[in-house]
Formats: sequence, C-alpha cells, structure tokens
Amino acid sequence: MKPQPAPSEFDLIRHYMAADTAQRSDVTLGIGDDCALLDIPAGQQLAVSMDTLVAGRHFIPTVDPITLGHKALAVNLSDLAAMGATPAWATLSLTLPAADTAWQTWLGQFMVGFRALAQHYQVQLVGGDTTRGPLSITVQVHGFVPQGQALRRDTAVVGDQIYVSGTLGDAGLALLHQKGQNILTETVYTLVAERLNRPTPRIALGQALRSLANAAIDISDGLGADISHLCTASGVGAQLQAQQLPLTPAVQTYIDQTADWALPVTTGDDYELVFTLPRAHQHLVLQAARSVAVPIHCIGHITAEPELQIQLPDGSIQPLGAGYDHFNGTL
Ligand code: ADP
Ligand code: MG
Repeated sequence: MKPQPAPSEFDLIRHYMAADTAQRSDVTLGIGDDCALLDIPAGQQLAVSMDTLVAGRHFIPTVDPITLGHKALAVNLSDLAAMGATPAWATLSLTLPAADTAWQTWLGQFMVGFRALAQHYQVQLVGGDTTRGPLSITVQVHGFVPQGQALRRDTAVVGDQIYVSGTLGDAGLALLHQKGQNILTETVYTLVAERLNRPTPRIALGQALRSLANAAIDISDGLGADISHLCTASGVGAQLQAQQLPLTPAVQTYIDQTADWALPVTTGDDYELVFTLPRAHQHLVLQAARSVAVPIHCIGHITAEPELQIQLPDGSIQPLGAGYDHFNGTL
C-alpha cells in the first residue's frame, strides 16, 4: 500500500471549515464532496449574489478579522435584502498568503464573525475553495424568493416616492476619520465605525417590501450612485430633497461644521435599502417598516426626465451627475 501524503495545512483548513457549519434540512450534502447538493423549495426562485473583498482595496490588511468575517457575509446578505429574498446558503472562496499557525488563527477569528451572522440568518456554509495568494475573500450567497415576487431595480415607475432605510453617511464619516480628513471624538468615532465595520443587512425590511415596493437597490456605492443605477435600469430620473435625508447627529454635526452636504449622498458602505413605491402604498409601507423596527424616510420622487437632481436647503435644484466632487462644500 502506498503511504498517504501528510495532510497539507490547507487540508486542515478545509477540515476546519467543515466542522464549522450549522445544519439546514434543505442541504442534502454540504462541505466535503465535490459539490454541495441543495433543495430549492417548490414555488421559490433562487436568488444568487457574490462579492469579493481584496486586501488593500476593500479593507486594510490589519483590520480585525472578526469584523471582516461579519462584513464579508453582511455585504452579500444586503444584496439578498435588496431583492426581498430570504437567505439560505453561502459558499466561501479564500485566498490566504500562507496556511501557517498565524493564518490559521486569523481564519479562526474571521469565522467567528462570519459564523455569528450566518447563525443569525440561518445561513449554512455549504462549500468553497481555499488557495494560496494575496489575501482575498469571495462570498456567494443563495436565497429564496417566491416565484415572480423579487424586488428589482428596473421596475421603478414615474411618480413613485423614493424611500431609504436607516441613516446615511455614517460609514463615510468613519472613513474620513480613518484617513485623517475629519477627526471625530472617540465616542462619535466608535458609533460611526460600527456602521462601517458591522453593517446590518435589511433582510426583514426587504421581505416586507416584496408586495409593496415597485423597485429596490441596496446602497453600497453611495446613495447618488445607487439611485442612478436604479434610474438607469428603470429608464427614469429622480429628484431628491437634501433636507429629507435621514442623518445621525454625528453626520448632521459634520455637515453643520463643514457645509459638506454631499457626504451622505456620495459615500458608500451604508448598506441601507433605497426603494420606490406608488403613493397609494405609503401607509402600508410605513406600517410594514414599523413592524420590522426599521426607520424609513421619504427622500424624493421618480421623474420622467431621466436626470438625477437634488433640491438643496436653499431651494435651488442641482444636478446629481456622475462627478460628485463639485458638490463638496457647496451642497
Ligand atoms: P476539490 O479539490 O474537489 O475542488 P477542495 O479540496 O477544494 O475540493 O474542497 C474540499 C471540500 O471543502 C469541498 O466540499 C469544498 O466545497 C470545501 N471547501 C474548500 N474550501 C472551503 C472554504 N474556504 N469554505 C468552505 N468550504 C470549503
Ligand atoms: Mg476545489
């Protein structure tokens, strides 16, 4: 009999991941074989989304791995939320610089953050890939949505009201602090850094909006950019009201001090939902948002003219075009 080669460190990692997963009854076969075998419930469509985080581009390599584990899954779950889908499964592709004990410890911590969020939404890790190279993390999530009921970005209707969940600009303010461009007090930084590091996917809100909203998208690139994606896909325009943007005291104080109204419009990483609805659904939508305990605010409306505009507190109307920089300090 030929001697078996000793297990590589990557084999150990795969073994470790296999020990890590929660169990769902729709998983016939999870980690360990060449493929996972999964059952999609009758009458449901599979919603699939993937995001990659590259060290140095999407996160600083020294970031707390527990936080990174949370965020890697959260940004994917946010895409499911924007479609009104219910999360079910995830796959995880990891490229690690090495598989020595230091990186195994790093991975153990990464999985603490990943697993806690996965448990919360009953998501089972069903497979993945592990390779050696510059640190990079790809997560794919799979969710269910009743046939034909997914929220899409290409179905906004002229006259729709535009709503946004939560508050805008907190993550962007934390980034400004990290870059040394706007120093916050320790207390305020702690608050906004939580928004940057541990975004909350708005899963329950997305599900509640399925039969009520006409269109939806999640804010990853920034309110302006993501509304522009929604409008382009729907062949419409939008007019926003700067004064209606929901802001935390931290962001409001920053704007009062700097006159930089553009921050909540241009910075990304909020992972809130933007959605449009017919005026007739307003009451039901407000009720639905209350029932899932997520604050929502009307910030504008959909227009036939395919432009994006924002009305400033002084009443003037400005284009919200591709180049946001000229807004800095003037909005
Ligand atoms: P193969 O060589 O057949 O592609 P692998 O050795 O890459 O298989 O993986 C073995 C098993 O471990 C597979 O079920 C795969 O899905 C799982 N796996 C590998 N890496 C990961 C990971 N990072 N997260 C979750 N599962 C993983
Ligand atoms: Mg493989």
